[in-house]
Amino acid sequence: MQPFRVVAILDAIADSVRAELVAPVYGHPAYAEVARGYGPCRLCLRTFTVGADRRILFTYDSFQDKEALPLPGPVYIHEVACERYPEDGGFPEDLRSHALTLNAYGMGRWLLAQEYVTDGRVEAVIERIFARVEIDYIHVRDTNAGCFDFALERAPAT
Ligand SMILES: [Zn+2]
Repeated sequence: MQPFRVVAILDAIADSVRAELVAPVYGHPAYAEVARGYGPCRLCLRTFTVGADRRILFTYDSFQDKEALPLPGPVYIHEVACERYPEDGGFPEDLRSHALTLNAYGMGRWLLAQEYVTDGRVEAVIERIFARVEIDYIHVRDTNAGCFDFALERAPAT
């Protein structure tokens, strides 16, 4: 199994949004509400409990600090502090049951492969994608909502 790193948004971004209620870079107002959908939180990668958890909606560039060309879109985080998902934590279990789109990019934001996973057996797909040396990273998106969830990168072999 090709080891991979799970790359959630950075703590600094979540801290800034919680403190300012403004989207970093864009300056759009962020919006706090009781969760009306499952999310997930882009920091801890846990799904929200609809009708109970409070979340903040803001605009985020999924290519921030990675590529010159941006692709902003809506994301959510928990309103209160939560733990960033560990990069070596394996595929986030809360997301396994959702229909996922894996967009595989080469540096320069070239979309080189796109895979749809609906049965939760995502590791085999990740391994197949990362077997292609020209692919540098993967963005995981929710297939139904279309929104960016998190990124995957190769981890050094142990
Ligand atoms: Zn969270």
